[in-house]
Amino acid sequence: MGSAQNPDIFFQAREACNKNYDALPAIVEEYMDKVNKKIGTNYGLFNYYGAPDAEHIIIAMGSVCQTIEETIDFLTSKGQKVGVIEVHLYRPFCADRLLEKIPATVKQITVLDRTKEPGSIGEPLYLDIVASLYDSKFKNIPIFSGRYGLGSKNTTPSEINAVYKNAEKKRFTVGIVDDVTNLSLPINESIHSEPTDRVSCKFWGLGADGTVGANKNSIKIIGNHTDKYVQAYFDYDSKKSGGLTTSHLRFGDSLIKSTYLIKKADFVACHNPSYVRKYNMVQDLKDNGTFLLNCQWSDADLDKELPGQVKKYIADHHINFYTIDGIKIGKAIGLGGRINTVLQSAFFTLANIIPVEDAKNYMKEAAEHSYRKKGDKIVQMNFDAIDAGSNAFHKVDVPAEWTNSKEEGLDYEKISDRPEVEKFVKNIQTPINSQEGNNLPVSAFMDYVDGSTPSGSSAHERRKVAVDVPVWDVENCIQCNRCALVCPHAVIRPVALTEAELAKAPKNMPVADMIGMPGYKFAITVSVADCTGCGSCANVCPGKKGVKALNMSAAAEHQDQQVLFDFAKPLPEKQDVILKFKETTVKGSQFKKPLLEFSGACGGCGETPYAKLVTQLFGDRMYIANATGCSSIWGNSSPSTPFTVNSKGQGPAWSNSLFEDAAEFGYGMELAQKALRGRLKDEVAALAEKDKTVAEAAKEWIDTYTVGATNGTATERLVEALTKSNKEEAKAILAEKDFLAKKSQWIFGGDGWAYDIGFGGVDHVLASGQDINILVMDTELYSNTGGQSSKATPIGSTAKFAATGKDVKKKDLAGMAMSYGYVYVAQISMGADFQQTLKAISEAEAYEGPSLVIAYAPCINHGIKIGMSKAQTEEAKAVEAGYWYNFRYNPEFKGVEGKNAFMLDSKAPTGSFRDFLAGENRYASLAKANPERAEKLFSEAEEFAKEKYEYLTRLVTLYGND
Ligand code: SF4
Ligand code: SF4
Ligand code: SF4
Repeated sequence: MGSAQNPDIFFQAREACNKNYDALPAIVEEYMDKVNKKIGTNYGLFNYYGAPDAEHIIIAMGSVCQTIEETIDFLTSKGQKVGVIEVHLYRPFCADRLLEKIPATVKQITVLDRTKEPGSIGEPLYLDIVASLYDSKFKNIPIFSGRYGLGSKNTTPSEINAVYKNAEKKRFTVGIVDDVTNLSLPINESIHSEPTDRVSCKFWGLGADGTVGANKNSIKIIGNHTDKYVQAYFDYDSKKSGGLTTSHLRFGDSLIKSTYLIKKADFVACHNPSYVRKYNMVQDLKDNGTFLLNCQWSDADLDKELPGQVKKYIADHHINFYTIDGIKIGKAIGLGGRINTVLQSAFFTLANIIPVEDAKNYMKEAAEHSYRKKGDKIVQMNFDAIDAGSNAFHKVDVPAEWTNSKEEGLDYEKISDRPEVEKFVKNIQTPINSQEGNNLPVSAFMDYVDGSTPSGSSAHERRKVAVDVPVWDVENCIQCNRCALVCPHAVIRPVALTEAELAKAPKNMPVADMIGMPGYKFAITVSVADCTGCGSCANVCPGKKGVKALNMSAAAEHQDQQVLFDFAKPLPEKQDVILKFKETTVKGSQFKKPLLEFSGACGGCGETPYAKLVTQLFGDRMYIANATGCSSIWGNSSPSTPFTVNSKGQGPAWSNSLFEDAAEFGYGMELAQKALRGRLKDEVAALAEKDKTVAEAAKEWIDTYTVGATNGTATERLVEALTKSNKEEAKAILAEKDFLAKKSQWIFGGDGWAYDIGFGGVDHVLASGQDINILVMDTELYSNTGGQSSKATPIGSTAKFAATGKDVKKKDLAGMAMSYGYVYVAQISMGADFQQTLKAISEAEAYEGPSLVIAYAPCINHGIKIGMSKAQTEEAKAVEAGYWYNFRYNPEFKGVEGKNAFMLDSKAPTGSFRDFLAGENRYASLAKANPERAEKLFSEAEEFAKEKYEYLTRLVTLYGND
């Protein structure tokens, strides 16, 4: 097996397999029959469904066939002669069996492919059908070809109806509007093919508020405790949390074939009040349907808070409108923003599918199952939520005059004055964020055909997801800027204001005299519309004499803070303030604009504060190759880009390649950069010889050529000199001026990438000796896909694929990198030592060779018992307990008198290792489920941690020069 075959035999060996392929369809058929007998199905290699005398048939594969069947039922009931052949064995393709299934009456065949093979003469299934029918009795039947459903796009009965009606376009697309190549089929008729016994419900939730989990439980309860057929679809955006989720639940007495999302529902629930101005939700309801809105508004408030189009629809369509204050109940019970169970309970009462008391018992069983691992307290809180939610709703007496309400449109705020962002936001982002992306025509994407989009679009989202926001108390602030450093979403920012700026500020803007900078005023501003309410800022705030200067308070009462933020955001950075406090300090760095803002990361995420800080330090000259994972999802999920630009339009150039090649991708960026700059260097040197007016600037630029910190200013001077030069060569160099400055090349990714899948590339880049910086945000598991074990998962930790606790220790990535001797290596944990984090990142970037910074990043998948608002505290605890060590290895200092190349920044552990483990569910759940095994693995983990500390102290001695 696996021998390397040469041209003399490879071909024959391949042909020798033919008989096996030929025999396969019969074998598959035999096993399909066995399965059919067991479970009562009738699967064949090809199945036919529809009119026996069909004149137009579709040939297709996969889930769309169910929608086609539902459409056929509807159309044949109206006398139409249509059918479908469903392909169940695609390869080896068995043409004889296909031909047996085609009705003799057929006059047109349409093949649907859920793929696009650019440049091919036809899609794969279509080509197979053409080849199968050639030379058969159907050879003269016209064969049409259509693409549908790319990227999991919905395909509806109305679209299938359009396919059956199509007798003109031989090659087409369906489900989109193609106004560029005009391939799409028009949808002239809207059909409703779902049976009348069907009940459809749609729930609009906030990512991570538990709505999806609750609906999964609801549909299981209905399926298990009634005779009804049930179906559930869950539709998400890419936000890690705090994004939109829609749950589509169907149940009824007949088999459900509707493999598409619900368009017209009997029940719609909105779990987040801010959605009423963002989405058309209530318009999804059938006449006399039920709308349940979670909000804190009174009936009188509703008149003001609901947009005109919502009020009109409710009144005109006789909607039964209920409100419920889930947040109040959630807070009283201790569940905070996780209001899912409250709303689920209200749904069961209103929907009346199962007797309420029975439904409550079933919900409690499900809650026990879902939350058992999180502890008895959480289970009890969910029981309380079920009891409270079942009758806490209130029926709104809909005012008759609502029928006269005027359309107000959906929310859209103009924030940026960059025309390219404005255009993108207006034409692409706003429709997508309003759930209207499916309606965008192909022409909308013509300006973005290469996949690039303008940075900074996340600032337009203003998701307003926070329940509580921080409120600044000027009297207790010591102006340390820690709050801004740790904020995962760049929402809270310190501002240095001149007297002149203050004079233009909104009235009563709270400010203090800036400590150490006479003449300046200091303020902390918060974008409440972008805040996630994670509380991380308030957690780290030291305040004055133990009294915090940030306190979390109801967002609804502090919306007025937004104007202060919006006023301060565009004010210029104060270079003298940054110089005074130094950008390599916590305080100084935070006066620089974060070039990563308002990302889709979870509230309290441990990853983003690191990435944001890197952009504050080097973002204006930074290239990022991002590995796939959480950082690529919060880093750029269409249509929102959190990487942004400064007032000069400079910001990180970001791109994501594959999981397995991110390091090589970044390496390629660096090599391309070197080649470009190398040529420009020759050109600048040659020009300096010819044109003395540029000589001085050229010399400065060449002298600082490899030093990022100073080459930026030198580049500005060079560009100025080139602009004044009248030489053609100067114009040619200016045409490529964006490439002149020394770039800071970074590769970002998580541990799943760096320790596991992309490790070969990481190692290759580190070994290359190139000036590349790698930031590994180590969450000790695959965070993006729900917490699978990686080689960074420590011994004793549970994770997916390590449900009984990982039984081998974490890989020593830092040690492996240090073994090269010429790689800068650091381990950091921000909450344990803010300044060490800054030092390590700054040193890594300044080092003219490969650098690896491994950052400890708490994640929602850890199940931190004190909550994600305390992620920074958890980082500190990890170091205190000897669970994580901070250190720096700088090859530059090797052999340098008075310097130590290895610096162990963590002190000897003072905290309890076991207490640290007990504080996180990834460990505590094992202790509960299997105490004996937990004890064995935890003691090994503790032993390894001690050994690690001893090893690191030996390195201090080894690399010391004293
Ligand atoms: Fe930032 Fe969280 Fe504080 Fe909001 S609550 S400002 S998102 S740290
Ligand atoms: Fe002021 Fe607290 Fe922020 Fe420090 S962390 S700047 S004390 S608000
Ligand atoms: Fe959320 Fe964890 Fe990913 Fe951060 S790393 S975005 S906390 S899943």
